[in-house]
Amino acid sequence: MRTVIVGAGLVGLTTAASLRLIGHDVTVLEHAPEVRAVGAGIGLWPNALREFDKLGIGDAVRRMGDTVDAWFFDAAGKPERADGYDPSRYRFLMVPRPGLNTLLAETVGLERIRLGTHVTGFTEHDTHVEVHVSDGPSSRADLLIGADGVYSDVRAALVPGSSAVEHEGNRVWRAMVPSGDERPGTTSWRR
Ligand SMILES: Cc1cc2nc3c(=O)[nH]c(=O)nc-3n(C[C@H](O)[C@H](O)[C@H](O)COP(=O)(O)OP(=O)(O)OC[C@H]3O[C@@H](n4cnc5c(N)ncnc54)[C@H](O)[C@@H]3O)c2cc1C
Repeated sequence: MRTVIVGAGLVGLTTAASLRLIGHDVTVLEHAPEVRAVGAGIGLWPNALREFDKLGIGDAVRRMGDTVDAWFFDAAGKPERADGYDPSRYRFLMVPRPGLNTLLAETVGLERIRLGTHVTGFTEHDTHVEVHVSDGPSSRADLLIGADGVYSDVRAALVPGSSAVEHEGNRVWRAMVPSGDERPGTTSWRR
């Protein structure tokens, strides 16, 4: 099956690598000039790691990350764990997003990722789908997958009225800082 995936983010690349395993002829169309990741780190739970194991990159992903133990605190800042809390169920692996996306792109095969290719729409036919790009010929596919992020144009075209709505009123700033002399027992990184 010839499959076109729009978006070379975490989802598009993981989907591409997984479908290749079951024999799809995959092409990923990405409008950015390079495979890149927005944000610093991403927490991966066991279900994600199981999928990376199936792709044969589980160990490489584990090597690039750090295990994090989750803790809860009372109002006075005292760490607490409820009776029956099993830390192993909430332990996760924090990995750098750019490294993960690069590894996934290599797993997919760079020759299958068309960078600088902006998808503008698609036309469904009885036997195939035609994927339109801003410059160049359309791509013909048996299956089109929209992995073009939260503001997905593919989803908006397929399901009118489903455009993402920007959340108002709250903002988050995230950053990476060097670790220092954090209190022991807080949410912590473990090598
Ligand atoms: C602050 C924050 C923290 C998070 N923390 C975690 C976490 O710890 N663990 C976790 O599992 N998840 C976490 N998430 C969620 C996770 O980051 C997202 O679910 C995931 O990154 C989405 O990946 P994606 O590939 O769907 O989208 P994106 O990364 O947005 O990729 C979409 C790609 O599509 C391309 N594209 C868009 N439109 C077009 C077009 N028309 N033509 C061609 N290409 C196009 C874009 O350039 C982009 O490369 C977090 C999210 C946020 C905001």
